[in-house]
This record gives sequence, C-alpha cells and structure tokens, in this order.
Amino acid sequence: MYEHPVLETAAMTNLPAEVREHLRDRIWPFTAAIEQSADNGRTRKWLFRAPDGASIEAVLMGYDHRTTLCISSQAGCAMGCTFCATGQFGFERHLDAGEIVAQIAYANAAMRERPMPGSPNRVTNVVFMGMGEPLANYANLRESLHRMIDVINLAARSVTVSTVGVVPGIRRLADEPWQVGLAISLHAADDELRSSLIPLNSRYPITELINAASYYFETTGRRISIEWTMMDGVNDSIEQATKLAAIARDLHAHINVISLNPTPLTEHRRPNRLAVVEFVEKLNDLGANATYRETRGQDIDAACGQLRIRGAQERAK
Ligand code: SAH
Ligand code: SF4
Repeated sequence: MYEHPVLETAAMTNLPAEVREHLRDRIWPFTAAIEQSADNGRTRKWLFRAPDGASIEAVLMGYDHRTTLCISSQAGCAMGCTFCATGQFGFERHLDAGEIVAQIAYANAAMRERPMPGSPNRVTNVVFMGMGEPLANYANLRESLHRMIDVINLAARSVTVSTVGVVPGIRRLADEPWQVGLAISLHAADDELRSSLIPLNSRYPITELINAASYYFETTGRRISIEWTMMDGVNDSIEQATKLAAIARDLHAHINVISLNPTPLTEHRRPNRLAVVEFVEKLNDLGANATYRETRGQDIDAACGQLRIRGAQERAK
C-alpha cells in the first residue's frame, strides 16, 4: 500500500479474487468522508474518518515542480491557540503512525485515478501543517517519518515538521537520523503577546524556543523556517517586525508570512493584502529573509481544522 497504493481492492489485479474480496474495506484505516477540490484541481482536500469517528484532514497542493501534501498528526489538538480552528475544537486523540502515513499513500492512490494537472503525479513534499501538534505525538511522528523516508522513499529534505514550540521534542528530533525541515510557528515576537495567542508559550517561552531551534539548525544543518500568521491589529506592528527580524537574523531562519484564514470560532481578523506586503518588505529591509505565501484553497476551507468543523456541522444536520 505504501509503494503501489490503490483506492479500491478491485485494482489489485495481481491478487486472487478471493483475497481481494477478503481485503475489501480493510486496506485503508479511514474512509474519505468529504473530498473537495479548488484552484482548477491543483488543490484537493480530504476529510477522512476513522472507524471510531476521529476526523483526519489532509490537503494536496500541486505546484510546477512539486506536489505537497499537508498532513495531520492528531485528531484535534490540545494546544488551544486562539486563532486556530483545530485548537478551538480541542483534542480528540493521537493518530497512530499508520494513520499518518496512510494520508500520503491515499493521496498517491487518488492521483493515479485523477492526475494532478501540471505537477508531479505523486506526493514529493510533506508538511505536518494539518491538524495537531506533531511533537506532542512523538513516538508516532518518529515511526511515520521512518516509513515515509525509508519505505515510501520521500527525501528527508522534502519533509517539514511544523511545531508550535514543544522544546524537548525539537531537541529529540534534532538527534534523529533524518534531516527533516523544521518550521516554528512563532506568530509573536515577545512573550506577553505570544502567551496570549499560544498558551504553550507560558511553559516554553521564546528564549527557550529559540535556543532549541538554534540547536536544531546546528545539529542538522537545516535552515529553520519561522511561520508568521498575520492577524489584523495583533502582530502586524513595526515593533513586532523589528523583534521578529532580529530573531530571524540570529537564527539564520527564513520567515514565511501568511494571512490569517478566518475561522468561525475566533475573533481575529485577516489583514488587508497591502499591509502584509508592507510587513514583509519591512522585514527584508531589516535584513531578515521573508516571503509572503499566498494561501491555497480559500473556497474549500483548506485552513487548519476548517473542514472538520464543516464535517461536524453536516453530520449534525
Ligand atoms: N501544530 C503545529 C502544526 C499544525 S498548524 C503548529 O502549530 O505549527 C500549521 C500551521 O497553521 C501553524 O503555523 C499554525 O499557526 C497555522 N495556523 C493555524 N490556524 C491558522 C489560521 N486560522 N490561519 C492561518 N494559519 C493558521
Ligand atoms: Fe494545535 Fe498548531 Fe492549531 Fe496551535 S496552531 S492549536 S499547536 S494545530
């Protein structure tokens, strides 16, 4: 299933009919409850549902030279970040390694049936930016990395683990044999503001987070990326830009700025596009390396946790 994935057992024509019949409905650990597509078929999103009802989201994005899958590591998330739909929904359970890797295999199987226009027809890059905090589910994250790198043959360099700042997890990951990319969801450059958005910051404040990120960079040689979700009137000031630029320069990190995807459960608002562009220019003027990432799949609720809310609403009808 990892090397030659198929959506249905009927396609496993190298197996006898009775074996195929026996395996029917058993080859995937979940079913696709919702499947949506946007951006002329270059963005696809699935809401998978496990037999116990846990929801798992994955988003596939085709670019010219890569096809990136954004995967989930937990059903829900216990971290409670104020701007995140998943965080507002709460924690359901950890995903096991099979459920994490099956998202990649499923996307590969789906592309065999319906090719990705203008992009590689298999997952070439994986980002852990779907639901959940991967470093809070360490053993399963580790096993899933082993399978995607050593069995599915994804290059470690094209896998990125995104974390809100689980400091001990960052240090453990640095000592693993794979040089995967690390993205730090910073979003605020001082502890007061960051703790108001991200409860975990009270446990692991910015200085500790930067020290761990720096250890990661020194140990793996991989440049850190800093994620900065811009929220109108919250983290878009010159003061934040100045502090952020200093952190990024010290870490030799790259800053990815994105606009908040508004979610039904948060009060934060999306800044206007010009404000984001100016913020990014300011960061570059200050000697940091920053880019603005346009978001994909706006019309299909492709932001973290949004499809799950839609699924829950539809089930409640
Ligand atoms: N828990 C991990 C990985 C999943 S979240 C983490 O927090 O890094 C992946 C990214 O989506 C994070 O950078 C997170 O801050 C961001 N994010 C969450 N909610 C968002 C929203 N409503 N709009 C834009 N980005 C959001
Ligand atoms: Fe969890 Fe990441 Fe969402 Fe925070 S942003 S609640 S850590 S998934």
